[in-house]
Amino acid sequence: MRRGSRMEDKGSLLIRGGTVVTATGRVPADVLVRSGRIDAVGPDLGVGEADVDRVIDASGCWVMPGGIDTHTHLAHPIGRLGVTTADDFYTGTVAGAFGGVTTIIDFGLQEQGGTLTDARDHRFGVIDPDAIIDFGFHLIVTDVNDGVLAEMGDLIRSGFPSFKVYMTYGDKKIGDDDLILLLEVAGEHGGLIYAHCENDCAVTHLIERHLAEGKTGPAYHATSRPPEVEAEATNRAIMLAELAGAPICIAHVTSSGAARHVADARARGVAVAAETCPQYLVLDSSVYDPGAGCEVAKFVCSPPMREHSHVDALWDALADGSIQQVSSDHAPFRYEGQKTGGCDNFTQIPNGLPGIETRLPIVFTEGVASGRLTPERFVELTATAPARLFGLTEKGRIEPGADADLIVVDPEREVEITADVLHSDVDYSPYEGMRLKGFPTWTISRGDVIIDNGVLTAERGRGRQVERIPIDPANLP
Ligand SMILES: [Zn+2]
Repeated sequence: MRRGSRMEDKGSLLIRGGTVVTATGRVPADVLVRSGRIDAVGPDLGVGEADVDRVIDASGCWVMPGGIDTHTHLAHPIGRLGVTTADDFYTGTVAGAFGGVTTIIDFGLQEQGGTLTDARDHRFGVIDPDAIIDFGFHLIVTDVNDGVLAEMGDLIRSGFPSFKVYMTYGDKKIGDDDLILLLEVAGEHGGLIYAHCENDCAVTHLIERHLAEGKTGPAYHATSRPPEVEAEATNRAIMLAELAGAPICIAHVTSSGAARHVADARARGVAVAAETCPQYLVLDSSVYDPGAGCEVAKFVCSPPMREHSHVDALWDALADGSIQQVSSDHAPFRYEGQKTGGCDNFTQIPNGLPGIETRLPIVFTEGVASGRLTPERFVELTATAPARLFGLTEKGRIEPGADADLIVVDPEREVEITADVLHSDVDYSPYEGMRLKGFPTWTISRGDVIIDNGVLTAERGRGRQVERIPIDPANLP
């Protein structure tokens, strides 16, 4: 893979007068950036305006690591429906930068009969010309064979240590037999399986029954995928990982049952980590009101939003450490022309919500500002833990030598959400009307100010592939 030079002269930047918040503490301090990296952090660095190329006055603001979003679907084709997610790697990473994200890990999809290496090379060619922030990608395994198992070791050692699997979803589904093989190989070489957990037999059965009963509108998407199908598959994936002696990360936990399986497994020492997403933290199953007609399609994602008791359980799991990260699962589709394709048949609605830009603000507002999470836990959930979980050695912390990926946030500044104030190429926001704090005034990526007091200043394609190392199960967050 091509990587840019580390030695280019990127100048120097002093972020002065703010409160530096990391996963382990908060302290009034200045941050000095040189050549794209953090050079020094402290209350009195002895550096004046004349000594640097630029000074940002962060008085009253919090200086935090840029967000790392390990679950985005940009330019992601849904072959079955003939649609592609509405953001490409330019609009999607621009939206991310406005929302305080400085690194994404997206996905590269293995074609049936194709190799993972081809999937990697093809995807790199799609991302690299467009991304304005740094990127990695997980390889989605859809077709397990001897060739795939044989190429995994080299991929893991060359910066691609994580593999996504779907336990449901038609021809992308991986059965238990193949999942065991993938886990064994991943465990042997320092790989990590990242699993979408829903019981495929149960989902398929429930969809067929709903359709046979004439329950075809968008609201029935949710009742075709109840919490039990998620909890069962989550437990099964964890058990298989335990059996194989391999680490596993459970994608988008939405229910108390799944969260409990994760917590129980961690308590007995299994190398399991889990994420949840903002939509499951601020929305509940009331969005699936049959009386709302096709508008409900705006909220169709898998797993779906749950009854409110699950929402509370997820916040508890974030606070007590049994869920370790919040990603967006950004899978944006336009309402007109994409979501509306399934007004009369929920199986034809592309699954997913836009969320890359609102992820940090939602967790900030509903977590930190409301007192459910400490500021340090916010940083841990959105940056430090994702870096550790997915092998990003240069990201997610504010320490000398780390990449200067930073956000400067005025904790009091509030934005009312509409699709128009956001930057995704979609015609709605699931969070329309919410008032959110936590948007950055400045976003800095490897020392470059890419959002400058609300103005985009990044060049298309400036993002680089991130360095990633194999995963040490003993080092999971
Ligand atoms: Zn996803």
